[in-house]
Amino acid sequence: MLLQGKIAIITGASRGIGKSIAKSFIAQGATVAFTYRSSEEKAIELEKELTADGGMAKGFKSDASKMADAESLVKEVLEAYGTIDIVVNNAGITDDTLLMRMSEDQWDRVINVNLKSCFNLTKAVLKTMLKARFGSIINISSVVGVQGNAGQANYAASKAGMLGFTKSIALELGSRNIRCNAIAPGFIETEMTEKLDPDTVQGWRNTIPLKRGGTPEDVANACIFLASDMSSYVTGQTLNVCGGMITA
Ligand code: NAP
Repeated sequence: MLLQGKIAIITGASRGIGKSIAKSFIAQGATVAFTYRSSEEKAIELEKELTADGGMAKGFKSDASKMADAESLVKEVLEAYGTIDIVVNNAGITDDTLLMRMSEDQWDRVINVNLKSCFNLTKAVLKTMLKARFGSIINISSVVGVQGNAGQANYAASKAGMLGFTKSIALELGSRNIRCNAIAPGFIETEMTEKLDPDTVQGWRNTIPLKRGGTPEDVANACIFLASDMSSYVTGQTLNVCGGMITA
């Protein structure tokens, strides 16, 4: 029970990695407020699943790219649970294409959902964390943000931006006992990758030193560490959860 008594907001938890983080946080004793943008049914299902064994959890429809949504989310979570100790900025999208074909809208949308979202929620939650002199903020970036990727200029820029944001917030808020770290997942197998050609997926696995794709639980375990007091002397860092895909 590494997160007993802690209140956490996790963005984009209706499926994939966010869902796994929500389940792991509940298992560690946290109270979980999670968000989604459009997957209402999945969110209702997840809320039921998280609360089935007496867990405290609630889903909120909230567009991570919108500041006003972040502000009302924080207000509602404070009304429901009184404080916020942990924020996981997980909501993210891709809209891949070569730069030559990338529209301004494709660029803006990916930057707004992946990067501006971190600004929105971190700023909205700041007053609460400053007052409490406590907080752990975790930004889910990507190995693509560390090393770039052809055909993903918008996504890579957003994920690299998250790393600069993470380091700056750690420097700004360390003296107030608010920590901020990033996780850079590599190839994580979710429902989405199940639909891809099995030979292609196996090819990707073969290039990874640990010879397998990651699981959402692998990322969730790193989140538990960074959210808990186990990492109380860790801030401003990027933890690569990628099976050794990158080593820097
Ligand atoms: P996913 O399965 O596509 O799930 C994305 C989640 O984000 C969904 O719950 C979705 O909710 C939510 N979301 C999307 N846009 C949103 C918005 N504007 N406001 C609020 N919520 C929004 O993605 P995933 O694979 O689990 O990835 C989660 C995070 O890990 C992302 O930041 C991604 O970039 C990062 N990551 C993933 C991998 C990987 O291999 N999977 C690797 C590196 C990094 P709705 O269903 O309601 O839209």
